[in-house]
Amino acid sequence: MAVSYKPQLNYTDFKDLTEQIHFHSAEGKIWLGEQRMLLMNLTSLAAFRREIVNGMGIERAKGFFLRLGYLSGLKDAELARKLRPHCSELDIFLAGPQLHSLKGMVKVVPLEIDLDQETGDFYGRLEWIDSWEVEICKTELGQMKEPACWVLLGYACAYTSSFMGREIIYREISCRGCGDETCMIEGKPAEEWPDAEEFSRYFKADPMIEELYDLQEQLNSLRSTLQRQQGQYYGIGQSASYNKVCKMIDKAAQGKVSVLLLGETGVGKEVIAKSVHLRSERSDGPFIAVNCAAIPPDLIEAELFGVEKGAYTGANQSREGRFERADGGTIFLDEVIELTPRAQATLLRVLQESELERVGDNRTRKVNVRVIAATNESLEQAVEDGKFRADLFYRLNVFPVHIPPLRDRQEDLPLLASHFLEKFHAQYNKRTLGLSDKALELCMQYRWPGNIRELENVIERGVILTDNNETISQDALFVSPPQISPDSVEHIDDDGNMRSGKPGGCGGSWSDQVIEQGISLDQVEETLMKQAMEQANQNVSKAARLLGLTRPALAYRLKKSGILSEN
Ligand SMILES: [Zn+2]
Repeated sequence: MAVSYKPQLNYTDFKDLTEQIHFHSAEGKIWLGEQRMLLMNLTSLAAFRREIVNGMGIERAKGFFLRLGYLSGLKDAELARKLRPHCSELDIFLAGPQLHSLKGMVKVVPLEIDLDQETGDFYGRLEWIDSWEVEICKTELGQMKEPACWVLLGYACAYTSSFMGREIIYREISCRGCGDETCMIEGKPAEEWPDAEEFSRYFKADPMIEELYDLQEQLNSLRSTLQRQQGQYYGIGQSASYNKVCKMIDKAAQGKVSVLLLGETGVGKEVIAKSVHLRSERSDGPFIAVNCAAIPPDLIEAELFGVEKGAYTGANQSREGRFERADGGTIFLDEVIELTPRAQATLLRVLQESELERVGDNRTRKVNVRVIAATNESLEQAVEDGKFRADLFYRLNVFPVHIPPLRDRQEDLPLLASHFLEKFHAQYNKRTLGLSDKALELCMQYRWPGNIRELENVIERGVILTDNNETISQDALFVSPPQISPDSVEHIDDDGNMRSGKPGGCGGSWSDQVIEQGISLDQVEETLMKQAMEQANQNVSKAARLLGLTRPALAYRLKKSGILSEN
């Protein structure tokens, strides 16, 4: 039978519900029928809601709180059926809005309710007054863009759906939480809402963890793309000599040909090796870098090619070597000149046959590894001296690439310096204002015997010694001012013109000048010793090392010339 709500019904009398509340303070419990309840203060719930909104975003938070209300509505529908078994459908139904009021959630004013449990017809229009969710919008969250009474709405949907035995959906058609005059809800069967399916999605838990896994996967793939892109830049530089190297690498990267990187220590051979790898077809495979000079000679074979258990004392278990680990990828052998004769023989076999045996093993293993070797000494010389196998040298030297020292690509220095500044700013969580003009000038004039690695160390020191928002001075970069080569110093000549090269202009060596200007050998010795002592902070041992003398020999000379008094 269809019943319609009549406003004259004594709606506010719900003593039967109130009587269901029991405070068992001694036990620390509050009961509503058989449901354990909590008395919580609104402000902490408001803070919690703000945290959820900020942490999960508004859409997820909305679903979260709708579901919170939903569970509570289901429980109360059960309670209502139990408490009012002999009442009219409408009176049983009204227990829901009444419970909502009783719990202090909101004052509900039913304006229109038509329901028929038999046919399943339902229509409801109710006003919410003093919703707790509107109140926290005012105090904690600020005005919302959409209706904000999420928990209340979830409750109404669940309560009525359970009561009617079919899915009833309510929508807040106006809400004070988003600036409307009143909070007004309308409810009808799901099929009568055009967007019911979309709305129902809020009631399905949507675990964030799935999304996190997805994001993680995307991040990983982005990271490897980025790494590959970085490999495209072959390190940093725009000078002609460096560009030439890059062009060589472009050609080398294709195919499996061995590459030999030549150049002074610290020029960035590993960066280049990695670029070759990342630009090759094996870029998805491993890149293994080995510094042959850092491994003791008697361990190098085992380290590179692996070892079988019991091969020698201390080989307690079988272990794969770096070549096996680099299978399908690239191995970078820095300071390859340090390889022992036996290791050289095995390397030659790997290059020729693509196979190796672990130390102490007779099983032959196939490996597919591209070799990039590097050295800062002359391999030809080592071959001549009988220290390096000629046949191995020819195998490695198929594609030699000479990497220029930093002093030959001076125009790249500012780029490199700002790259390292960025790196160390991030590492030390600092922000300096960069190099002072004087410091940069000094860098441009210095010969950088340690090349890029030395520059990196110098910049790191500068960043450490300089405070935030201050400029890195020359003193922060260099312990003592670097010895600028006379060839690179500019000076004003006798006619007042700026000239490169050393003063004097005779074009000869410094010894020519000494003789030309009539400086005595004693004077030269004295000047050198004074300079060395100054650089060594008057530490005789240190000064002796600078001059290639023993401490007693220097001390004797210092005393003889009167620089150091007898004591
Ligand atoms: Zn509202």
